[in-house]
Amino acid sequence: MKKKQAGPQQTCEFVSYKTLLISPSHLSRHLTTSLLSPLSPPWRDYSFPPMDLRRRPPKPPVTNNNNSNGSFRSYQPRTSDDDHRRRATTIAPPPKASDALPLPLYLTNAVFFTLFFSVAYYLLHRWRDKIRYNTPLHVVTITELGAIIALIASFIYLLGFFGIDFVQSFISRASGDAWDLADTIDDDDHRLVTCSPPTPIVSVAKLPNPEPIVTESLPEEDEEIVKSVIDGVIPSYSLESRLGDCKRAASIRREALQRVTGRSIEGLPLDGFDYESILGQCCEMPVGYIQIPVGIAGPLLLDGYEYSVPMATTEGCLVASTNRGCKAMFISGGATSTVLKDGMTRAPVVRFASARRASELKFFLENPENFDTLAVVFNRSSRFARLQSVKCTIAGKNAYVRFCCSTGDAMGMNMVSKGVQNVLEYLTDDFPDMDVIGISGNFCSDKKPAAVNWIEGRGKSVVCEAVIRGEIVNKVLKTSVAALVELNMLKNLAGSAVAGSLGGFNAHASNIVSAVFIATGQDPAQNVESSQCITMMEAINDGKDIHISVTMPSIEVGTVGGGTQLASQSACLNLLGVKGASTESPGMNARRLATIVAGAVLAGELSLMSAIAAGQLVRSHMKYNRSSRDISGATTTTTTTT
Ligand code: ADP
Repeated sequence: MKKKQAGPQQTCEFVSYKTLLISPSHLSRHLTTSLLSPLSPPWRDYSFPPMDLRRRPPKPPVTNNNNSNGSFRSYQPRTSDDDHRRRATTIAPPPKASDALPLPLYLTNAVFFTLFFSVAYYLLHRWRDKIRYNTPLHVVTITELGAIIALIASFIYLLGFFGIDFVQSFISRASGDAWDLADTIDDDDHRLVTCSPPTPIVSVAKLPNPEPIVTESLPEEDEEIVKSVIDGVIPSYSLESRLGDCKRAASIRREALQRVTGRSIEGLPLDGFDYESILGQCCEMPVGYIQIPVGIAGPLLLDGYEYSVPMATTEGCLVASTNRGCKAMFISGGATSTVLKDGMTRAPVVRFASARRASELKFFLENPENFDTLAVVFNRSSRFARLQSVKCTIAGKNAYVRFCCSTGDAMGMNMVSKGVQNVLEYLTDDFPDMDVIGISGNFCSDKKPAAVNWIEGRGKSVVCEAVIRGEIVNKVLKTSVAALVELNMLKNLAGSAVAGSLGGFNAHASNIVSAVFIATGQDPAQNVESSQCITMMEAINDGKDIHISVTMPSIEVGTVGGGTQLASQSACLNLLGVKGASTESPGMNARRLATIVAGAVLAGELSLMSAIAAGQLVRSHMKYNRSSRDISGATTTTTTTT
């Protein structure tokens, strides 16, 4: 593993305009040098400042041995010696056709255009007159001779500028050092013309004290392949397809990785994982797998069912704390959940020539009369995809169309994207002027905090509630109803409002969401919107008991596809009774999983809020996050970070 440092070596291209007046002889000499003898070597005699560098051939990236085909090669850091050598060998830049006049490029072009056509017109006239008066064509006056020279010169200029770009790049290469042009630009009298992305300087810093590599003794054949990968002969990414054995490919790749980086990954296990199961679906170029402990919180009594909730986490107290919340809920009679909405969204961005046309698309898509036709086209993507709604937002000439559909037991991103693609193709009949800029225009909105998900929902919108009796609040949660209600108001509601939170009106919903997501093969990046949650607490029954609820509008989960079919994740889904496709009704398993997530969040909120109200937070963390081996008391006192 090596550290790259990128720095702005060359951020902008400059045009140097020196106040130089050009005499006709100067111009013709320059033209002759630069255009009529392009391959001759006198570039170093070049006596003009560079007028325009825009047509310069692109400079190749800074040299390193890291080829782009996925093989391992070490970087060659650029040293200050290299810089000195570069500076020492800088040469004057080669002239180009567009350097002919000390004028802006467009004026130079205009001059040569005008010259070319007016001279051509003049010569054709003269030619016609000569034919009319029987004058021999080879008899030319001085004016005609000048016109012919001007015609040729302007023709060569125009050809050099517009016609044969590759000729110029060829010319530049011929000079050998032309790539160094950027290093030769003077500092004086520069004028900014265009900005190009900075050319990264790749310098490599050494990481301290690598642990010694324990080199695997591989079969001779594999040793050869490791060497080929290191040398870049075999791209690392192609090992699976070449060898037809995913485990062997991973073992060769990790060996090559260790040798190239000089760093050991011994602690990252290789054995004990089915690498075939992730091929082309879950992870590319594997070298091992990460072990994350899975703890169980529960039983979570939800909607009359008991669930043992698997949580993959390395955060001490989290499982214990959630477990405590489950206990309090269980004794109080459990929780109840409702799925308010179930629909995955995708919103492409399309552009028109006018805002009027973009608006016409909006009216077309949102017209109820067109919905059935759109649904038929959309639903072709899968037997599980069912279009629910289309919402269009306009930003000038651009339209953002948010399609929402049910996706059965799949989380549904692939499914909804295919449906959207179908509709966009269909729309080109009525809107041929529609320019599809991107299948995702961020109005979806996937893996980013967004108000649209918070308000409209995405995936499963779930509300989950429980009533916890006052005595249990006292005995199990070690706090009081009044303290909990007050803390919730000041922390989760007012505090988050003060912070300008977007869907973060909770104590630590994302802790539970992430842990359950990882355990059950969900996409952990969707934790961003899936953790949006508002936790409400209210004293009921004359202040004796507490009503607590979590409302989560964007829980994005599936029980088929993606990481859900991997052995470990599938086992966790099986534990919850929601593995794979529902046999009762499509989508039932995914919806149930969403309610379990919400139920576990409710337990987590209850426990953590109680710990904070009772002032236990720091105490329990010091006790259970400091290598204590005994967590027998965790269910009654612990909490977790917020
Ligand atoms: P996603 O759309 O979440 O990315 P995938 O496209 O990877 O998911 O997986 C969904 C696949 O599973 C589809 O090919 C679909 O036909 C299939 N499938 C089988 N049973 C179901 C079901 N009950 N619900 C949804 N999809 C299902």
